[in-house]
Amino acid sequence: SSCLSNDPEPGRVRVAVRIRPRIAADLSDADYPDCVEVQPEESLCVPVCFIASFSWLFTMHTVYLIQEVKMSFVLQLKKLKLRKNNWSAEYFRFDEVFATSASQKRVYEVVAKSVVESVLDGYNGTVMAYGQTGTGKTYTLGRVGKDDDSKRGIMVRALEDITTNTSPTSDCVEISYLQLYMESIQDLLAPEKTNIPIVEDGRTGEVSVPGATVVKLNSMDQFVQLLHMGEANRHAANTKLNTESSRSHAILMVFIRRSVPEQEGLDISLRETEVDKKTGRPGYHVPTIRKSKLLIVDLAGSERLDKSGSEGHLREEAKFINLSLTSLGKCINALAENSPHIPTRDSKLTRLLRDSFGGSARTSLIVTIGPSSRHHAETSSTIMFGQRAM
Ligand code: ADP
Ligand code: MG
Repeated sequence: SSCLSNDPEPGRVRVAVRIRPRIAADLSDADYPDCVEVQPEESLCVPVCFIASFSWLFTMHTVYLIQEVKMSFVLQLKKLKLRKNNWSAEYFRFDEVFATSASQKRVYEVVAKSVVESVLDGYNGTVMAYGQTGTGKTYTLGRVGKDDDSKRGIMVRALEDITTNTSPTSDCVEISYLQLYMESIQDLLAPEKTNIPIVEDGRTGEVSVPGATVVKLNSMDQFVQLLHMGEANRHAANTKLNTESSRSHAILMVFIRRSVPEQEGLDISLRETEVDKKTGRPGYHVPTIRKSKLLIVDLAGSERLDKSGSEGHLREEAKFINLSLTSLGKCINALAENSPHIPTRDSKLTRLLRDSFGGSARTSLIVTIGPSSRHHAETSSTIMFGQRAM
């Protein structure tokens, strides 16, 4: 059941784009037509030509191999030309493009479910949402769906899958909920804890935030309460700092420890068995605990902050937000290019992601965009960010 065996490119970041439907806030955008559109890609038939020439017959035999290309979708980004109502189109291909009608359930199943499954199998994994403020990052990840189950976001659905697939007696599921603002980590479950350091184990490469609150999960109700509490603390902290939540990254960490059933874990438990040096025979079996970690990251708004008119604090802030998003972009590019060096040291965000990203970890990036051509420039740069990961 390893994700590696059936995954041809385990380290690659999978990228999906989700287009938010028009909402009441877009009313003033009535003059701006949609600038994005999803187009089903034609199932392509690629003819491969083998020309075999048999001199003794003086004939040519041509064999066409029809290669099946799986149905995928192309996001069409229309480029606004100078003249009004005159458009030119640019096409971008992603692993998946969700039209405005896509349900929360479908987004979870396509983007996050395989990551959650591999985390249950013992690998680390990350699901991130990147996009301009107001395009649906929090809706996609953090929505609780209190009065409408169908609206539950990825965090709640992931925890439902995790709690139903782990044993309350032999497994352990814990969470931490953090905010990263201006290269400082704050505990969203205990907001008095700020500036929490990141610790890396030099031997195993394991990244942890030992100063943060860790809560053992007992029920989904408890999880939903913790999410609400985190959200309230995030709001309060940002009001105090006189900033907006959209300027910080929110990071939900889910830690899973499972005791591996004897048969399934045979190989691992043999490795961890103490060997009697004289006889070479195994001594006693150490029970095997498999640890893994899921990170769900609601990234800061990707919009360029207006630096021209801003004063000291805002300018610093813009610099820091750009630092972590830019360094995330660099890491994603490096992964896409199969580079041996992933530059995770440049920011706190990428240091936190270091062991949950690339390598044997599974990573999904959801790029969220709005439909209106009013934000064409931001939408275009958001799409380019996602495109560089492909
Ligand atoms: P962000 O976190 O990127 O700033 P939000 O998730 O807060 O954006 O979404 C902005 C607004 O758009 C919210 O009112 C949210 O309910 C609405 N919204 C976002 N995505 C969708 C969607 N797929 N369907 C319906 N409403 C959405
Ligand atoms: Mg948000």
